[in-house]
Amino acid sequence: MSTPNPSSEPEKNITAETGAAPVTQSNFLYERMAEDVRNKKYGDAVIQTRFPPEPNGYLHIGHAKAICINFMLADEFRGKTNLRFDDTNPEKEEQEYVDSIQRDVRWLGFEWERLLFASDYFEQLYEWAKKLIRDGKAYVDDLTAEQVREYRGTLTEPGKESPYRNRSVEENLDLFERMKNGEFPDGAKSLRAKIDMSSPNMNMRDPIMYRILHATHHRTGDKWCIYPTYDYTHGQSDSLEQVTHSMCSLEFADHQPIYRWYIDNLGIFPSQQIEFDRLAVTYTLLSKRKLLKLVQEGHVTGWDDPRMPTISGMRRRGYTPEALRNFVWSVGVSRTNGIVDLAMLEHFVREDLNKRAARVMAVLNPLKVVIDNYPEDQVEEMDAINNPEDASAGSRKVPFSRELYIEQDDFREVPPPKYFRLSPGREVRLRYGYLITATHVVKNDAGEVVEVHAKYDPATRGGNTPDGRKVKSTIHWVSARHALDAEVRLYETLFSKPDPDDVAEGEDFTANLNPLSLQIVNGKVEPSLKSAKAGDRFQFERLGYFAVDEDSKPEKLVFNRTVALKDTWARQAAKG
Ligand code: ATP
Ligand code: MG
Repeated sequence: MSTPNPSSEPEKNITAETGAAPVTQSNFLYERMAEDVRNKKYGDAVIQTRFPPEPNGYLHIGHAKAICINFMLADEFRGKTNLRFDDTNPEKEEQEYVDSIQRDVRWLGFEWERLLFASDYFEQLYEWAKKLIRDGKAYVDDLTAEQVREYRGTLTEPGKESPYRNRSVEENLDLFERMKNGEFPDGAKSLRAKIDMSSPNMNMRDPIMYRILHATHHRTGDKWCIYPTYDYTHGQSDSLEQVTHSMCSLEFADHQPIYRWYIDNLGIFPSQQIEFDRLAVTYTLLSKRKLLKLVQEGHVTGWDDPRMPTISGMRRRGYTPEALRNFVWSVGVSRTNGIVDLAMLEHFVREDLNKRAARVMAVLNPLKVVIDNYPEDQVEEMDAINNPEDASAGSRKVPFSRELYIEQDDFREVPPPKYFRLSPGREVRLRYGYLITATHVVKNDAGEVVEVHAKYDPATRGGNTPDGRKVKSTIHWVSARHALDAEVRLYETLFSKPDPDDVAEGEDFTANLNPLSLQIVNGKVEPSLKSAKAGDRFQFERLGYFAVDEDSKPEKLVFNRTVALKDTWARQAAKG
């Protein structure tokens, strides 16, 4: 999978054939690593990072950013990256998510050094908890969850110490063991770190380390009925893996003191947490809880619905891993959260597909054209270029015959000003075909044009004009007799507001669902698409980029519109 390694240096994490986007563009995370390497902060140890998803949902584009940062930065320093499932919450976690996360990370082009689960550390974490108890730094509390909240105080008021805070070491050890042995019901007790109930940082007010939860875990089964919290697990897991730079999004900044407290008080490998800004994109929700609601309530067809911002949804829609990596890297990292224009993401998708997608002709809203002076049984194979951006992609034959389909939009019986496409008496070029002039139309009872009649100029084969005359427009077409039927799924944003959470009181984000986010048309595509397989990507000339959906069958092709051709972001960027 990986590229050949010319030097004796360790292999890179990047495994996609095309390699990584250039990471040399410096940022504060890179600088921090470079400095730590220079100063030998970790001696001669390699840079070690990790991507730590909780397996409670599918990965989304925000995770793609975290993945790229962890893998690509480690890679810059010839370091290593682990994939570690943060599976401390048995109630919401499932194997389906574990599988999809691995598939998605690999699809993005990365291969982890080690595949790990925080649950593998449950025994070690338990031992460390007993050490903290023995050192007088942890205690078993009998307060209920609600009381714990009350005692915690607020941002402006200090908390209150629990009446159970000063239990003896022996009593704490005994109670903790009995918690583990299942002697108490859910929520009856908890283990807390003994830190400072008046700390200005709420996370330091005797944070919970363990809760009682009689739940079956996806990996440890019923072995445990006490589960460690995120805060009590994350830093120690990093430390066990000798993670040098534990990068996470900014909402964890307030947790950094507790991350360090556990590591310092246990005297273990000093992993360090560094925060970066969380990715947010207009018209897009990036919260697993909300995405799960969309799935559960049937607003989308599943986690991989092409309208979802999940990696599996974007893959199905036709986005490429290269486009996502380039996007993430261009957005960059900073220390303040912002919001990125969806148009920028689409720009990177187009930019990449422009290089790799084969051009084909497809008609989404067919209108029949009959070329009256073209021989009835004649079929000509016209040469069509597969990709003007890539000479090696070669060319193909496209059949031309007397009856064709063009887009309804490409014909007007009464053309408005500046409309240069087909209309009675007007000549246009059929791409790779001939020049035709519309002569008359056939209408149905409702007065709608159902057929356009035309004549062609036999001297213009391939679209050339021997006499040098100019036509103002070139339109695409398919031969009616040869065209294949195709269901084409046209997507718009899933939400109609740039901020999907911008709702009236009492409503939730589902109020902003865009009723036009999916429109299905039955189109006609050129016969070369007969053998197109799920995942193949094409540019439908003049329309946009389309990917073959997994629902597609040879007798009924199904395409997803990945992105239309118009690039608003590039235009905005050019204007400055
Ligand atoms: P969500 O808020 O969508 O439920 P999460 O943060 O709970 O996501 P985790 O599985 O805990 O999901 O995240 C794994 C890693 O991905 C964490 O290190 C987290 O910082 C990072 N991450 C999650 N969302 C984003 C985002 N929008 N931008 C950047 N990094 C993110
Ligand atoms: Mg999280």
